[in-house]
Amino acid sequence: MIVTIDGPAGTGKSTVARRLAKELNFDFLDTGAMYRMLALKALRQGTDFDSSDALAELAEQTSVDFEEGVPMLDGEPVGREIRTSEVSRAASFVARIPEVRQILVEWQRNYADGRDIVCEGRDQGTVAFPIAECKFFLTASPDERARRRLSDLEDQGISANYDDLLQEQIERDERDLNRPVSPLKAAEDAMTIDTTELSVVDVIEQLRGIVQQRMSQSA
Ligand code: C5P
Repeated sequence: MIVTIDGPAGTGKSTVARRLAKELNFDFLDTGAMYRMLALKALRQGTDFDSSDALAELAEQTSVDFEEGVPMLDGEPVGREIRTSEVSRAASFVARIPEVRQILVEWQRNYADGRDIVCEGRDQGTVAFPIAECKFFLTASPDERARRRLSDLEDQGISANYDDLLQEQIERDERDLNRPVSPLKAAEDAMTIDTTELSVVDVIEQLRGIVQQRMSQSA
C-alpha cells in the first residue's frame, strides 16, 4: 500500500510521516531530501540556478539514494548540511525544473514499487502516486509552521531567527505553490488535516486509524 503525505514545510509532515511508517512497519521516503541533495550539489559546484539546462544536466549526472534511511548523494551519506536555510531555499529553485522532477519522480515510483510505503513531499498524491490508496495533505498556520521550523532547527543545533524563517517560508511557499509543474496542492482525493492545534502524536493517531481502516477494507 502507498500512503502519501503532502503539504508545506513546518506542518509536522516529516516527523509524522517517518513515525507513521515506523508504527505501520512501512518503508518511508523523504522526497524533499532528494531535492535538497541536488540543491546541495548545485551549491557546492556553483551551478547557475537560473539555468534550467544546467540544473537538468546536474540531475542526470547525480545519484540520489537512501541507505537505511540515510540520504546518499553520489554514494556519500549527507546529514544536517541538507537542512540549512540556504539549501531549503535552493531546493525550491531546483524543484521548479520539469526535467529534474521527471527524473526524481521516476526514481520514486521505482523505489515504491511493490512496497508498503509512506511517501512524503509536495506532489506525492498528485503526480508521483495518483493511484495511492491513502492520501493526506497537512496544513498549519504560517506562524505555527515557522515556530516549528525554528524549534526543529534548534534541536539539530542549527541557529536561526524566527522573522528570517517566516520570510523564507513565505518566499518558498510562493515558489512551491506557483510553479507551473507539480505545484504544491492537495490531490482531490486527499484528506486535508489542519495540524495547527494538534500534537504530532494526535496527528499520527488520526492518520494511522485511517490507514488501518483502508488496509482492512482492501484485505
Ligand atoms: O519537504 P522539504 O522541506 O524537505 O522540501 C524541500 C523543497 O523541495 C520544497 O520546498 C520543494 O520546493 C521541494 N520539493 C518538491 N517536491 C517534493 C518534495 C520537495 O518540490 N515532492
